[in-house]
Amino acid sequence: MADPHRNRAAVVVNPIKRTEVDLRSLVTKVCLDEGWDEPLWLETKVEDPGQGMTREALEAGVDLVIAAGGDGTVRCVSEVLAGTDTPLGLLPLGTGNLLARNLDIDINDPQAAVLDALNGTERRIDVVHIHVDHAQDSHVFLVMAGLGFDAAIMGDTRDDLKDKVGWLAYVDAGIRNLPGKPARTKLRIDGKKPFYRRVRSVMGGNCGKIMGGLEIFPGARLDDGLLDIMTVAPRGKLGWLGVAAGLLRRGKGRDPSLEYFRCESAEIQTLLPQEIEIDGDTLGQGTHLLLRVQPRSLRIRMPYGKKDPAVLSQTEP
Ligand SMILES: [Mg+2]
Repeated sequence: MADPHRNRAAVVVNPIKRTEVDLRSLVTKVCLDEGWDEPLWLETKVEDPGQGMTREALEAGVDLVIAAGGDGTVRCVSEVLAGTDTPLGLLPLGTGNLLARNLDIDINDPQAAVLDALNGTERRIDVVHIHVDHAQDSHVFLVMAGLGFDAAIMGDTRDDLKDKVGWLAYVDAGIRNLPGKPARTKLRIDGKKPFYRRVRSVMGGNCGKIMGGLEIFPGARLDDGLLDIMTVAPRGKLGWLGVAAGLLRRGKGRDPSLEYFRCESAEIQTLLPQEIEIDGDTLGQGTHLLLRVQPRSLRIRMPYGKKDPAVLSQTEP
């Protein structure tokens, strides 16, 4: 029975992610050792990757929801937690874990991650809502979303391969996706006058780091209430080499392959349907995206006492 005098966490766990340890015993032990109640344990399903479980956790009145899984699980849990007063903790499983990496959360030490979730420093971060093809309902993302080339990469990356070789799978998928044409794309930033670009991909970022330490949105902050937009248009003799070089220079220099915008909302429209991806999950195809920031709407637990990672601009809770 739940003890009303003790704090209680819910763990929304993706059971597909294999772990070397018995995760449930480990999390339960850490919770009890720290004076918390036994956690509410909720496994995600294919047809409900986390939203339903998070609602159940909120209804049970828990003090914290721990997302145990990859970026997909974190995203689905955050979709429900954003705008509430219940904080999110991260227990990274699997290979991607881009949000955890951006926040300097240890992705290889489950015990440390649970301790950070229970006792860590708390921050408020932005979430970004994304509406596909004028849909009333939105998804949220925490790291990045894309339309076009990048999204095709994510969609084409086989999960089994991703688990075996980690981020190299992304590169492999990228190479297989290389052929293709840039598409004329209409962009509208903060509701201003629309403009057009011929691009392979348009991406929106909430924070900037991807695999291999690459920072694709230079200076992006998770709590500045602003969304970073990048257009990718390989051109000239160097083509993709130019894009890669531009990324390695972190957007400094005048590489026309990459263009950046910082805004509160962005609308992206193409003529032909393009692959759409959010935080590494594919959403299928679409021709229109509306991205909108919900500033500082998610309470998140960070490693205690650690210097704030560069992704956060505000140091006070
Ligand atoms: Mg930002």
